[in-house]
Amino acid sequence: MNTLDKNLIRKFICSNPQNVVVVSHTSPDGDAIGSALAMNRVLKAFGHNPVVIIPDVYPDYYGWLPDIEDIVVAENDFDKAVDLIRHATLQVIVDMNALKRAQQLETALQEAQASRILIDHHILTNNIFDAAYSTPDVSSTSELVYNVIEFIDPALIDKAVAECIYTGIVTDTANFFHGNMSDRTFEITAELIRKGIDIIKINQTLYHTFSESRIRLLGYSISERLHLMREFNAAYIYLTKEDLVRFNYSEGDSEDIVNYGLAVKGIRVSAFFIEKPDFIKISLRSEGDINVNAMSAAYFNGGGHKNASGAHFYGSLDDAISLFKKALSEL
Ligand code: 5GP
Ligand code: MN
Repeated sequence: MNTLDKNLIRKFICSNPQNVVVVSHTSPDGDAIGSALAMNRVLKAFGHNPVVIIPDVYPDYYGWLPDIEDIVVAENDFDKAVDLIRHATLQVIVDMNALKRAQQLETALQEAQASRILIDHHILTNNIFDAAYSTPDVSSTSELVYNVIEFIDPALIDKAVAECIYTGIVTDTANFFHGNMSDRTFEITAELIRKGIDIIKINQTLYHTFSESRIRLLGYSISERLHLMREFNAAYIYLTKEDLVRFNYSEGDSEDIVNYGLAVKGIRVSAFFIEKPDFIKISLRSEGDINVNAMSAAYFNGGGHKNASGAHFYGSLDDAISLFKKALSEL
């Protein structure tokens, strides 16, 4: 099946009004939320009855995004999320390539009698979708959402949609620093600016609104918990449950910490381990040809992109770190 099928996607979006669920991944980031909210607005414009559903809470610094208050967070409202999924005839899946990334919503999504379309920038290995617009060669899912909306009707890209799409692009590229950026990424961004968005204000909201405890957690992570393994040109940082309590952790506070490993000269692979109640959340980042997507899949049953991947590890922090060292030795 064609995985760049904007025509088929358009057919679904321009169909008779229906109940639609727009769903994205666990630990939602700016691209997950931005692409979902942008699609939600477009679906509304076509007379559908859409709702955005995410598995767990989003960080506070996304709280200003248009319509974010309408998102159903399954962690807080599981029955409502499942009910909405059961009654929807169309699923719009964004920024994830497999239903299992929706965690506790996987079964409901799978069992629903609904058509399913995908807009995503992860490598698609199992195409279970009725229409897919999916390629890893772009900065973000939000960039693909822009392409889809532009293709259907450029007039739909108003300031609110532009803010959602910009948020996805700027966060998935770590403020235009890495990822699959292209001239197109910057052209789209220029178009978004022409829609009247205030990128300085958005950047300040996203990057300069740390709580005191978050900035101290960052300092602690680097001064106390950064370990360099020069023999592998690698680094890792870990945080325990106790660290999180000590620094009054809230969702999103550890975002981007993994990148500080790569900021060290000579370091080309960085890992971040954070102890969650039931698992260790792992983030992996790399530079150049080092494929942390393959590492994540082979050692941690995770996935993502060549230079940015993640996984959920069901074991101890020590075991996760040992496995990372083993993976490095076998690179
Ligand atoms: P992060 O480290 O920021 O959570 O995620 C980096 C990339 O890896 C993102 O593209 C994200 O979608 C992907 N990713 C994170 N955790 C997982 C996981 O548990 N499984 C899979 N398949 N991908 C993940
Ligand atoms: Mn993304």
